[in-house]
Amino acid sequence: NEEILRKPDWLKIKLNTNKNYTNLKKMMREKNLNTVCEEAKCPNIHECWAERRTATFMILGAVCTRACRFCAVKTGLPNELDRDEPRRVAESVKQMNLKHAVITAVARDDLKDGGAEVFADTVRQVREMNPYTTIEVLPSDMGGSYDNLKILMDAQPDILNHNIETVRSLTPRVRAKAKYDRSLELLRRSKELYPEIPTKSSLMIGLGETVEEIYEVMDDLRANDVDIMTIGQYLQPSRKHLPVKKYYSPLEFGKLRKVAMEKGFKHCEAGPMVRSSYHADEQVNEASRE
Ligand code: SF4
Ligand code: SF4
Repeated sequence: NEEILRKPDWLKIKLNTNKNYTNLKKMMREKNLNTVCEEAKCPNIHECWAERRTATFMILGAVCTRACRFCAVKTGLPNELDRDEPRRVAESVKQMNLKHAVITAVARDDLKDGGAEVFADTVRQVREMNPYTTIEVLPSDMGGSYDNLKILMDAQPDILNHNIETVRSLTPRVRAKAKYDRSLELLRRSKELYPEIPTKSSLMIGLGETVEEIYEVMDDLRANDVDIMTIGQYLQPSRKHLPVKKYYSPLEFGKLRKVAMEKGFKHCEAGPMVRSSYHADEQVNEASRE
């Protein structure tokens, strides 16, 4: 029976929905596509879809083979692989007139290639149909396989994002099937394969980490040549998920951002509502500007 912290005022926002948003939601259902924006009930959805023209697609099904204790995605037996999904994602990117498309996937530990082939095919088809849209991929560690990462990176996304999610000491508790060092290695290897493709990683805070541990994550990411970092507040998706241990204030986030920039990141977004894909369109531009 852990104590439940009261949500501070800066996190109480109203979901802004309008007709455009309703139409887009309808299109997603018609095309049988999933977005993180909807699944995670992301508070930024109006700003992202309508104003910034960014969205995060979740491919390879809506069911994950892992069960990380912070994540709202369903777990269980995965869906059958849908080879036509890449085409429908590409079409939706066009229909939404997206400036920046983030493509993520559930972890497919049941597949030998971790879903890398379909993932890469999605990047290619989105690119082909939308030559001016920047593409960010956000894979799981794909079983830690170098070959799977290469399949994906050979499709040449504009940015590789892989989330470290939490500090080293909390990783076994927060995402049991992942490994802190394996995530760092994936980020490093992506840079080795394609040094010109910027890398990015996100951290959620409020799970009981210390500030020193947050600084350690920054150092570890920088030691593996990561260009962009995002830091956001962990929010408990349901009572079954890990409880929030601390709500950081906007001021504390500001300080973390400052430290991150001093440590050499090219871009850092940090704030209570910051999500891995928030303001992602700006990050690509800044990271490619040397
Ligand atoms: Fe979607 Fe990410 Fe924007 Fe949230 S921040 S609405 S998940 S693109
Ligand atoms: Fe959620 Fe990703 Fe963990 Fe699956 S691997 S439970 S989608 S965070």
